[in-house]
Amino acid sequence: MTRYPHLLAPLDLGFTRLPNRVLMGSMHTGLEERGDWTRVAEYYAARARGGAGLIVTGGIAPNPEGAVFPDAAGMFGAEDVAHHRVVTDRVHADGGRIAMQILHAGRYAYGRTCVSASPVKSPISPFAPRDLDEAGIEKQIADFAAAAARARDAGYDGVEIMGSEGYFLNQFLARHTNKRTDDWGGAYENRMRLPVEVVRRVRKAVGPDFILIYRLSMIDLVPDGSTSDEVLTLARAVEAAGATLLNSGIGWHEARVPTIATSVPRAGFTWVTQKLMGKVGLPLIASNRINTPEVAEAVLTQGAADMVSMARPFLADPDFVVKAAAGRADEIAPCIGCNQACLDHTFAGLVSTCLVNPGACHETEIVARPTGAPKAVAVIGAGPAGLATAITAAGRGHRVTLFDKAHRVGGQLHHAAKVPGKEEFRGLLAWFETMVEKTGVETRLSTAPSPDDLTGFDEIVVATGVTPRDPAIPNTGGHALSYSQVFAGAQVGARVAIVGAGGIGFDVAEFLTQTESLTEDLAAWRAEWGVGDPAKVPGGLVPPRPVPSPRAVTLLQRKAGAPGKSLGRTTGWIHRAHLRAKGVSLLGGVRYDRITPDGLWITAPDGPRLIAADTVVICAGQQSARGLADALNARGRAHHLIGGADVAAEIDAKRAIDQGVRCGIAL
Ligand code: NAP
Ligand code: SF4
Repeated sequence: MTRYPHLLAPLDLGFTRLPNRVLMGSMHTGLEERGDWTRVAEYYAARARGGAGLIVTGGIAPNPEGAVFPDAAGMFGAEDVAHHRVVTDRVHADGGRIAMQILHAGRYAYGRTCVSASPVKSPISPFAPRDLDEAGIEKQIADFAAAAARARDAGYDGVEIMGSEGYFLNQFLARHTNKRTDDWGGAYENRMRLPVEVVRRVRKAVGPDFILIYRLSMIDLVPDGSTSDEVLTLARAVEAAGATLLNSGIGWHEARVPTIATSVPRAGFTWVTQKLMGKVGLPLIASNRINTPEVAEAVLTQGAADMVSMARPFLADPDFVVKAAAGRADEIAPCIGCNQACLDHTFAGLVSTCLVNPGACHETEIVARPTGAPKAVAVIGAGPAGLATAITAAGRGHRVTLFDKAHRVGGQLHHAAKVPGKEEFRGLLAWFETMVEKTGVETRLSTAPSPDDLTGFDEIVVATGVTPRDPAIPNTGGHALSYSQVFAGAQVGARVAIVGAGGIGFDVAEFLTQTESLTEDLAAWRAEWGVGDPAKVPGGLVPPRPVPSPRAVTLLQRKAGAPGKSLGRTTGWIHRAHLRAKGVSLLGGVRYDRITPDGLWITAPDGPRLIAADTVVICAGQQSARGLADALNARGRAHHLIGGADVAAEIDAKRAIDQGVRCGIAL
């Protein structure tokens, strides 16, 4: 008897039957643009083998003006059809089903040729769009239909029409961007004409036995967005026009409310999908921050949707469904919602991958094959780098012993797990613990081995991590703590100055300005960020009501400018906005003069001054902990040096795990 009867139940679409209720949601990876279609195919085929009921590709443009950026992947002609055929053949050979997402970016397209309902520039793009005339609108519709027909020719099982997230079709729907006075603007029946016509013409182009998903923005989270009544009207019209499934879109890209970040409560937006349940005939798909089989099963059990979409979890673990079905859910590598290696890579023009699974999108390059020559391997340090090495090497058949001076594995991941809004790190720790056990890694905790203790091993991997940097600020009796001491539970006063505004400085500021985690209380989280009900206010935006901070906090750095520029591209704004809401003062361009019982004396750009503080917390980066490596070098013992012990600067879990996995494969 499975623990996930709803999730694993088939879904009958009439002309076809999906094996389960799991949609692998669309995710731009950057692979298509690199032109290695074998690599693209293997990425999707791995997810097909892993049991995804229906895969949706990353967004593919129907025409150049709709492409998210110049040269973004499109479905423009016969050459594209041939490329995509490589993908669909591989997915079908592995028993999967795959739909191509048609993404027209409208005014979000990064280029001067972008088009929209009205010439209203987006706050996240430098380009003002051209408003389309009647012929221009007809061309866009025809291009959608042609792209869908080509997708069918390429062997896809369906298409998803991207109608949410503030993209082109969404721009016609909402008064926020549609200022037209002709038949495509004004009353809702006019504003929804374009998406409904696109669905109708796509259905006509592909015939009846082809999956057509419409991704509908259930809550826009922008001013003058859609109301719940409009969402329902559109859902019914799209159904009548020929859609097969309705997927949920949550928030426009320009929305100032986080929608997928790790601090968003799990399944935190399924209530908007649930509003449509029973009101339309189509199966409904819920989305956003659904990342475990338990959460997905609960969404379905509660009747919030007929199917769930998960995108990033399939980067973290392609075998999500087969592991859940086999009663091995604890082995599913968890998506922690960090965006660090997926969306942040996309915005940096890099191929996406996953912090937890560096093999994602590198399926043809990072392959952990069983070893033909098992060795005795010592890994010293059970932080993310050492853990990744240990479970990779042991999974390949090596005999691995993992040492750590602490009484438990996890290293600095334990700090992250204590930060309100970063609870997902607990799941990552639990997964590492499970995998250590299941791969047969022998642990020797509370043990710091010397070179003499390591003589019997064929390979030695030093992953001893980092120690907090002491910036040696003169202290004449002030209360100063390191971030480690703070996370370990040291008493912190009501007025705090934080020295150093990197990722850990921000984490400490979040830790000290919240007493309860909002991530575990959906109502409180919605109040904090101003997420209302689109039934009451168009777009679902209400004034935020943040919980006041119990402490007055100042976050400082020596670099000029406002702190926070080093944070993740897609999440930094969330941390900055949240700390501002908590009244945290962010100060750059300072010099630290001394710590006294009164607080922290600095020289700011406008001169010397006191930051009155009961406690000063030092978050000034780290230095490599290389004692063991130095001792091994002194004896001429070969070893592998990885993680923070290798390079401390900006060491984070992404680099540590990547290096650890690669080391585990190389042994
Ligand atoms: P970090 O990001 O390198 O930041 C160190 C901070 O200390 C900087 O603000 C730096 O700014 C300051 N600093 C450096 N040397 C100093 C000195 N001698 N005296 C005073 N201040 C000094 O390091 P971290 O905050 O310790 O984080 C470590 C790694 O973990 C980073 O890669 C970070 O991105 C990652 N991390 C990521 C997240 C996340 O949410 N993605 C969260 C936590 C940590 P100035 O030099 O301008 O003063
Ligand atoms: Fe999830 Fe982070 Fe991996 Fe992206 S990088 S898939 S958010 S764990």
